[in-house]
Amino acid sequence: MEFSLTEEHLMIRDAARDFAQTELFPGVIERDEKQEFPKELVRKMGDLGFMGIMVDPKYGGSGMDTISYVLIMEELSKIDASASVIVSVNNSLVCYGLEKYGTEAQKEKYLTKLATGEFVGAFCLSEPEAGSDATSQKTTAIDMGDHYIVNGTKNWITNGGRSDVYLVIAQTDREKGHRGINAFIVEKGMPGFDIGPKENKLGIRGSDTHTLQFNDVKVPKENRIGEDGFGFKFAMKTLSGGRIGIAAQALGIASGAYELALKYSKERKAFGTEICNHQAIAFKLADMVTEIEAARMLVMKAAWDKDQDNNYDFSSAMAKLYASKVAMEQTVEAVQIHGGNGFVKEYHVERLMRDAKITQIYEGTSEIQKIVISRTVLKD
Ligand SMILES: Cc1cc2nc3c(=O)[nH]c(=O)nc-3n(C[C@H](O)[C@H](O)[C@H](O)COP(=O)(O)OP(=O)(O)OC[C@H]3O[C@@H](n4cnc5c(N)ncnc54)[C@H](O)[C@@H]3O)c2cc1C
Repeated sequence: MEFSLTEEHLMIRDAARDFAQTELFPGVIERDEKQEFPKELVRKMGDLGFMGIMVDPKYGGSGMDTISYVLIMEELSKIDASASVIVSVNNSLVCYGLEKYGTEAQKEKYLTKLATGEFVGAFCLSEPEAGSDATSQKTTAIDMGDHYIVNGTKNWITNGGRSDVYLVIAQTDREKGHRGINAFIVEKGMPGFDIGPKENKLGIRGSDTHTLQFNDVKVPKENRIGEDGFGFKFAMKTLSGGRIGIAAQALGIASGAYELALKYSKERKAFGTEICNHQAIAFKLADMVTEIEAARMLVMKAAWDKDQDNNYDFSSAMAKLYASKVAMEQTVEAVQIHGGNGFVKEYHVERLMRDAKITQIYEGTSEIQKIVISRTVLKD
């Protein structure tokens, strides 16, 4: 057992905290209101190595471990969960997927640019009729010899209008079920690939979510990831790591709200004393900090499992399930501690509450995490 962070981890956490406070914080309310994608900030995060945190330096990445990734995600999410989801998708779905399963040529061509932030990536699995039930893919990729022809619709795609590289999951052989699914690299601008209007969302409004349309898009065979039929496994393995990133995002949202609530409770007076002196408020703070610490343990355990090359499907599902629950519940409490001020934008907690909800939905809803967890315990 080792519960302390290394000097290097502490430095990385401090660098992310400093960036979040000096760069993300100033415009965060405005970006949320205007649904503005933080383009310039993404470039700066690329310069800091945040867009390819775990990627091998030979492909332009920072070569850090998953613990570092989680620390960075938590700090960014305390301030701006819209910025952190851009980082999460680029790192754990796109860069990880390419580095782990891509060919050398794919890594040279795409990963080197994604890891530095020169390119942004998107991960395209969900469809209007295939969300939780991802095996029901309607998007097709017909094998034409040296290329595939891709047709279909993907929805809810994060970074949808802002990406250069899209990892697209599609059905090649319906008779083979999930073993007939493939994953492809699709480039922005390929003929027949169209980006639909931006979604108007409850939370993470600064992130860019779109429906994508594929009409006879010609994708070269060298853009397929892995062997024929590997696409569904690719998506599931990649999402399992992605869940660690989203769990860390939820942890950051919860701890950001807690820090604001703690500070406010020491300043705001009611009935002749600071509100933290009322036991009802003090107990809320006690519950918040305890649950957040429990979530942090689960998130760190999942990150550690990944770094140790252990199977992390179980621990990442538990981390995401619990951290997202804590984020939702504790941001509501943070609003409550702020009273009327909690209900307006200037105090930030209402945004954190809105942002928390998505962590229970994307990269597998809480119900899907419970399916993963219960199947694992029932297997033995
Ligand atoms: C802002 C945002 C960003 C997103 N980004 C991406 C992205 O970048 N890439 C991508 O591919 N997708 C993305 N998604 C899609 C997201 O992953 C899906 O919305 C999610 O997986 C749920 O699918 P669904 O919306 O179709 O809901 P459904 O699958 O229709 O589920 C509806 C409800 O039924 C429950 N349910 C379904 N099946 C079961 C079951 N077997 N047992 C118990 N309960 C069940 C669900 O938990 C949920 O509560 C994003 C979504 C949003 C909102």
